[in-house]
Amino acid sequence: MRRELHGHGASRGSALGRARLRMPDVFEVAEERVEDSAAELARLHAAIAVVRAEMQALRERLQDALVPEAGEFLDLHALLLDDPELLHGLDQLVRDESYSADYALRVQRNRIAAVFEGMDDAYLRSRIDDIDQVIGRLHAALHRDGSDGAPVRGVAGEILVTDNVGPAELAQWHGQGVMGVVTTGGSPLSHSAILARSLHVPLVVGAAGALQKINEGDVLAVDGASGLVVLEPGPADLRAHRARLRELARERKQLNRLRRVPSRTLDGVDIRLWANAESREDVAEAHALGAAGVGLYRTEFLFLGSNVLPDEDAQFRAYRDLVLGMTGRTTTIRTLDLGADKADRTGLVLEGEPNPALGLRGVRLSLARGALFATQLRAIARASGYGPVRVLVPMVAAREEVLAVRALLRTAMDEARAAGHEVADTIPLGAMIEVPAAAIALPGFADALDFLSIGTNDLVQYLLAVDRNNDALAELYSPLHPAVIRLLHDVIRLARARGKPVAVCGEMAGDAAFVPLLLALGLEEFSLHPATLLEVRRAIRGADLGALRARLPALLRARDRAGIEAWMQKAASAGDNGGMNA
Ligand code: PEP
Ligand code: MG
Repeated sequence: MRRELHGHGASRGSALGRARLRMPDVFEVAEERVEDSAAELARLHAAIAVVRAEMQALRERLQDALVPEAGEFLDLHALLLDDPELLHGLDQLVRDESYSADYALRVQRNRIAAVFEGMDDAYLRSRIDDIDQVIGRLHAALHRDGSDGAPVRGVAGEILVTDNVGPAELAQWHGQGVMGVVTTGGSPLSHSAILARSLHVPLVVGAAGALQKINEGDVLAVDGASGLVVLEPGPADLRAHRARLRELARERKQLNRLRRVPSRTLDGVDIRLWANAESREDVAEAHALGAAGVGLYRTEFLFLGSNVLPDEDAQFRAYRDLVLGMTGRTTTIRTLDLGADKADRTGLVLEGEPNPALGLRGVRLSLARGALFATQLRAIARASGYGPVRVLVPMVAAREEVLAVRALLRTAMDEARAAGHEVADTIPLGAMIEVPAAAIALPGFADALDFLSIGTNDLVQYLLAVDRNNDALAELYSPLHPAVIRLLHDVIRLARARGKPVAVCGEMAGDAAFVPLLLALGLEEFSLHPATLLEVRRAIRGADLGALRARLPALLRARDRAGIEAWMQKAASAGDNGGMNA
């Protein structure tokens, strides 16, 4: 029977396919008995051995970790894994009750949790989380096929329905040919959503109840723009799906006419459109669309999903190919921004940080891991021999961090030269302006920078104290808060006054609806994913910059979001609308 679910559209596109459910954790496992309990016991023991080895390896990699708690967490988990009560209970459930290993994990988890739940001490009660993590690891190990964590079967042609998805998983599913993804949690601003748009995987997030209402194998029609998910779609839904595909193709054709025209406003001002490029395909597309260069290359995507860190040569090859792909146009390589929701399997990101978004992330992690950072900077220095390169530093909060990175970059360039590599004479150094402290203190350290790139995704999160990944706060997470508009205006004005190039590289820059507002604020460089570059170019070509700038005082006077939205509407109806109502 046809039913509808409503979530938030996070990556445009229309997908039709059968549902594949991935339950969030072990607690959903149904009661199940096996015939050969000896074989099941062996399966369970093999999984325990795998997890033990994984944790040991992780512990070794964290040997010199800066945050001792991370190591302590692992020690605690190792202790739990060796806990005789846990192991004995599991063995007994499989051997005597003939339960499947999965179900035994669930039963034993609930038994232990019941004991903890009864405790008065809040700290001890919270140890249930650790037990869940250990049980979760065991559960995952039971479902590996021995090929390093890959799911037992692929998801080609299917629509994944799950609670949440990390960027690494998404990349893996994309590689397997997934048609679309529906999650019950998540946010359109998460890194997974950015990656989904980059990979053209339709994604709906915040589809509450999807895991209860959708059954494995149900046919789903997913609209990644509106967030509508239809179960067992009827004839009208199938027609709508086809219409959406046609509309996307038609729009693409129309926009394609703008591939070779300049990004020039009606009154003749050229705006620079840089590309946010994450993959070889992005680079090719950026080039074909006439992007000024690559404005943001997120190097952490090289690290995600791998168990080993790419060494200097491997990184160099990736950066060199990126530079070569842009044939003489500038490439902006952002140094590692691991942390927060960009976790990895290398053990670099510390597990168990109480507040990862405010934790050892971005430049903090790089400066803390000197050898790792030096390797990355040398690889970038070597790539600069092949074409113009800039270095962009994420999560900068203070002048000292910029100065430290500049010194390290100089050393890396010298070392690369000493090793016989060709290195550019200069490599401009810029900072992401995404921590409010950096934006506010900018007058004091703009001189230390060659260029700036405003990361509105994080700036909005940190300025408004609204988690960009928390769907429950989606309404509050908006760049249309007067505080955001004022800070953007201050940063852009200061950068221009000091003669420093400034771009916006957050998702805001890739949304054509924001073009008039950003132009009014004085922005002349946008960095955005190639997927929306032509839409933004169309908006720029329909905008009258002089008229928009004349409206700036009214924009800065707006006292709330409604006032800013009214400003945008007015700009649109007056015709200096960036082509929005064309
Ligand atoms: C940002 O924060 O706006 C940004 C571009 O960086 P990321 O989305 O990778 O955090
Ligand atoms: Mg950021």
